[in-house]
Amino acid sequence: MADDTTKPTIHTGGCLCGAVRYTLTSEPAMPMVCHCKHCQRQSGSAFSTIVAVPKSDCSVSGDISSYIDTADSGNMITRQFCDRCGSPLFTLSDTMPGMIFVKAGTLDDTDGYTPQVHIWAKSKQGWVETGEVPALEGNPG
Ligand SMILES: [Zn+2]
Ligand SMILES: [Zn+2]
Repeated sequence: MADDTTKPTIHTGGCLCGAVRYTLTSEPAMPMVCHCKHCQRQSGSAFSTIVAVPKSDCSVSGDISSYIDTADSGNMITRQFCDRCGSPLFTLSDTMPGMIFVKAGTLDDTDGYTPQVHIWAKSKQGWVETGEVPALEGNPG
């Protein structure tokens, strides 16, 4: 994946209904799985899959709504989702203001997605196996 750094990579994605579309102009970094209870509730699933890019490398079209959440860590988190279908799309953290965290399941092409770390493993659902991938009890910062 990192063998052709001269070629610009464009990753696209969007919500379920298609009203929100986004383009990432840099390679998504920090592929991680978050097992915090808030991600479980927001996704209605066992965890959320996330990648990060600099905010300036993410352009979004369509109407998104925001929910200001206080994370388990105590940090302020802005969770953004499609106005129409409710798909969770982005998370902004006040601890990393230059970055935007993208719900990796909304990428059009998830073939290259391999998580490098599990976070908030202390609230991980019991049936989920993390295998060889490092698992942190809390937040990486
Ligand atoms: Zn939508
Ligand atoms: Zn989480």
